[in-house]
Formats: sequence, C-alpha cells, structure tokens
Amino acid sequence: MKVTITDQCMGDRNCNNLCPDVFQYDEDTLKSKVKLKKIPDQYKALVKQAAAECGAEAIIIEEKS
Ligand code: SF4
Repeated sequence: MKVTITDQCMGDRNCNNLCPDVFQYDEDTLKSKVKLKKIPDQYKALVKQAAAECGAEAIIIEEKS
C-alpha cells in the first residue's frame, strides 16, 4: 500500500493524531505529509480510517504498490 496527500489538504491534523507513525504535519507548508514510502501492514487499517475521515479527501491510497 502506498499513500499520498494532495494539495487539497487543509491541515487540520486529523490524520496526524490518528496515526502519527505514518502522517506528519509540515510546519512549512501547513499541510500533512506521509512519512513512509510503503505502509506496513499494522498501519493499513488506521490509514484507511484516516482517508475516510479526511474532510478534504486529500489522502489517496494505492493498494497495489
Ligand atoms: S486529515 Fe486530511 S485535511 Fe486533515 S491534515 Fe490529514 S490529509 Fe490534511
């Protein structure tokens, strides 16, 4: 699983609070970014939850990579 965050991110940090091992807030861009190139299995459920909860629909999940 690969995850990216688009420019639509509104920086409310919900994903960071939900899964800080995967999502990191960038103080320079005021948006969140993804810390890991490939998402380990133990974080996949949380990443899916973060994507579902993201009000900006900015979290994009690619299952096959
Ligand atoms: S939950 Fe969505 S809008 Fe909020 S910081 Fe994360 S990617 Fe950005």
